[in-house]
Amino acid sequence: MTDDETAAKLQHLHTADLAKGAPLAPPIVMASMFNLPGDPETGVAAYGRMENPTWDALEQALSLLEDAPSLAFPSGMAAIAAVFMAGLKAGDRVILPSDGYYTPRLLADRFLAKFGVVFETRPTVAMAEGGFDGARMVFLESPSNPGLDVIDLVESCRAIRAAGAMSVVDNTTMTPFGQRPLDLGADVVVASDTKAPGGHSDVLMGHVASHDANFMADVRAWRTQGGAIPGPFEAWLLHRSLGTLELRFARMCDTAGVIAERLLAHPAVQAVRYPGLHDDPSHAIATAQMTRPGFVIGLTLADRARAEAFINDCKALSPTTSFGGTHSTAERRARWGDDVADGFVRLSVGTEPLEPLWAALDAALNAAQTG
Ligand SMILES: *Cc1c(COP(=O)(O)O)cnc(C)c1O
Repeated sequence: MTDDETAAKLQHLHTADLAKGAPLAPPIVMASMFNLPGDPETGVAAYGRMENPTWDALEQALSLLEDAPSLAFPSGMAAIAAVFMAGLKAGDRVILPSDGYYTPRLLADRFLAKFGVVFETRPTVAMAEGGFDGARMVFLESPSNPGLDVIDLVESCRAIRAAGAMSVVDNTTMTPFGQRPLDLGADVVVASDTKAPGGHSDVLMGHVASHDANFMADVRAWRTQGGAIPGPFEAWLLHRSLGTLELRFARMCDTAGVIAERLLAHPAVQAVRYPGLHDDPSHAIATAQMTRPGFVIGLTLADRARAEAFINDCKALSPTTSFGGTHSTAERRARWGDDVADGFVRLSVGTEPLEPLWAALDAALNAAQTG
């Protein structure tokens, strides 16, 4: 299916087989208990930690977008923790990107290590060099966040499989409308739906997707037995947001493409990273494996003071640590200790129309430059 076909099908997925008089929007089923006479049966709801009809509606939509069975989690990290718990055992080695989202490294260091799981980290670009022998699981994040390096996922996933390991791709920054890692050979996809899929800065959610039925059974068992389950209202909010994901994501990427070009030409900007830019080191491989270049731009200003002035004084930017909302946001990533320049800003382009957004960015860049 093309992305357009998927987006069109999504609009009618929940409504296709409704009974006469049924609401078009899925109900928010707030329930811990379900009516359960006789013996329990597969497919019949029994208890709210095991199943919930609002999760089902959401997971049908996620499974359509991923074109693979998908399970919802109450945050991106809950999804990543489930993949660790389902896929690793004492003595295993897991390789994590050193320049990717940092919380998986904290989790591995603080909790996996004491259960005898060894972890090592490598820069995303080094993942393209192979050397996965002895690993049980390899996490990839392409584009990396916040550096926006891109690696060949087909080649990396092939090399990981040849080494007998499982490839897990964190696809948060791209969403299924920008990149489809399972189609590129990944064994597992994880994502934080807190970002563009939720898109309105009001809900945390995440999901795991994979064609490996045994692995997904373990992921589901971890959710049921570990007990970190999505709230029905949060699942409903994400389901609602998915209906506009393709529209929002397309607008955000189109606007980001123009803004990246203009930033590159702006005298206050020292460097720009964006996979959609022709001269970006990521451009060739991004064009081959991504359907859109994304809405996150990395730009470097002269120093910390100018970066902070730009972020805090721009009328069209909210200073936040997250991204993917309808409103443009920005953050100086060095404040978290990321290995980037002091003046490096991660800009998340929202759904504002291009020209008013650019006018505000341009004004703030000029003010930071002279200020
Ligand atoms: C935000 C993020 C996560 C974690 O997601 P939460 O929903 O905050 O738990 C994981 N990976 C990436 C790439 C992220 O940006």
